[in-house]
Amino acid sequence: MQGHQARRRFGQNFLADPHYVARIVDAIDPQPGQNLVEIGPGLGALTRPLIARCGHVHGVEIDRDLAARLAGEFTPAQLSLHVADALTFDFATLGERLRVVGNLPYNISSPLLFHLAQYDRQIVDLHVMLQKEVVARMTADPGTADYGRLTVMLQVKFAVRRLMVVPPGAFSPAPKIDSAVARLTPLGAARPAIADAALFARLVAAAFGQRRKTLRNALRELCAAPTLHAAGIDPSARGETLATADFVRLANLLAGAGADPG
Ligand code: SAM
Repeated sequence: MQGHQARRRFGQNFLADPHYVARIVDAIDPQPGQNLVEIGPGLGALTRPLIARCGHVHGVEIDRDLAARLAGEFTPAQLSLHVADALTFDFATLGERLRVVGNLPYNISSPLLFHLAQYDRQIVDLHVMLQKEVVARMTADPGTADYGRLTVMLQVKFAVRRLMVVPPGAFSPAPKIDSAVARLTPLGAARPAIADAALFARLVAAAFGQRRKTLRNALRELCAAPTLHAAGIDPSARGETLATADFVRLANLLAGAGADPG
């Protein structure tokens, strides 16, 4: 790979097929002057056409060797390099109206999405490549096997759409599984009001912690059956049957009621 030994610990599968690079960049449709941020620019497969189209990109790259190569290829006016771990990077420092792009390291995809979701108010959109099965979880409907914590935590903040599937042969080295590109667009004014974000996150995690359990049992620590009834939720149902709006209603009821010992 252009003299670079791919590092598995950094989830390095570089895009090598110009057809898919062009399709992804066309889907992003970067325009001059937009505030683009690429997570893990790597060897620059996406960075190059992004800069060609919009002039400047922020790149957050953890691998110092790759960062050094990128600094040699692009001027600071083209690429602002942040040699950092995207999982802890403060994206708020990059300003407003962020368009975030990334062929993400698959080993950290879920925690990275949770981290990025915190910045939904500064983000215009997110285009991410992930394992196809993770994109299936992000776009799932209630009552399906793919519907879970990731679905609910993202869909309360973003509209999520799968744009394309990318086969293993488009990468070097080739991963074992198909990938897919998703677009996440913040809900903005349509975003449901969540009174206590930490409580909401705990509730969703508990509801999906043991998928086989009824909500009465899964949520035992957080709320009692009468609270579920008050929120219009059947205590004998399973978490996967609740819509995101049900989780929001229940969490807001609990937040308003204070601690409910169950
Ligand atoms: N964008 C390039 C492409 O499409 O060919 C590289 C994609 S590769 C799947 C993932 C990139 O993310 C690598 O460059 C890797 O070094 C970088 N990376 C991995 N973990 C990271 C982290 N925690 N923070 C920032 N970058 C990371």
